[in-house]
Amino acid sequence: MSRKLVAGNWKMNGGASTLAGLNDLAAAYQEAPIDIAVCPPAPFLAHADHIVSGSAIEIGAQDCHTAASGAHTGDVAAGMLAELGCAYVIVGHSERRADHGETNATVAAKAQAVLDADMRPIICIGESLDQRKAGQTLEVVAEQLAQSVPDTEAVHQLVVAYEPIWAIGTGEVATIEQIAEVHGELRAQLVDRFGEEGVGVPLLYGGSVKAGNAADIFDVAHVDGALVGGASLKPDDFMPIVNAMLARV
Ligand code: PEP
Repeated sequence: MSRKLVAGNWKMNGGASTLAGLNDLAAAYQEAPIDIAVCPPAPFLAHADHIVSGSAIEIGAQDCHTAASGAHTGDVAAGMLAELGCAYVIVGHSERRADHGETNATVAAKAQAVLDADMRPIICIGESLDQRKAGQTLEVVAEQLAQSVPDTEAVHQLVVAYEPIWAIGTGEVATIEQIAEVHGELRAQLVDRFGEEGVGVPLLYGGSVKAGNAADIFDVAHVDGALVGGASLKPDDFMPIVNAMLARV
């Protein structure tokens, strides 16, 4: 069984008042039997880590470079994020794949950089609306999984997030049946590739997760948590999602 994880992705949002909200999260979750992470924009990481220090909340970044250092103006190395106190790095989010042309190979190299820095990559995959309409969903996510997850012995450090692109930030959530079908396929692929260890890789669902739908989503087989965008910005929206998972462990 994999340990559950609820992770918030602030994307390029947030500021002083959003950071202040982390005090509420830290106070509410001093200890927890699940993993809870918040991924603010890079400039806020050190401050965010300071606020949640001593609580059950861990901090994650939203991206990193594939290289450990070098002439890459504006980029951030995984080792730097680890030094700041990050425990997770999101890699291959569909917004980065679209905005920055990131390929599965780039995503795998980033995930490897995260593992090399002793953090956990949250590796995002998911189909477009056109691919779903064309009946290609399982084929697309299987290929993304195979190519975006690096060959590694640190299987216990991996996290995979299934995020159908058409459900991200749209308010449109995949149906329970759609989530069950994809998560079942992803689990089978992970076990095929990594054996028993593949059972322990947390599989998150992402795409318009909210207080009102989290419980139903968490009840789906092979859903081990959520990657939450919009609803992670305010504690009043995020805490009910965390609590829905806590009620299930
Ligand atoms: C995301 O950013 O990964 C995401 C799932 O966003 P939202 O929850 O807003 O759809």
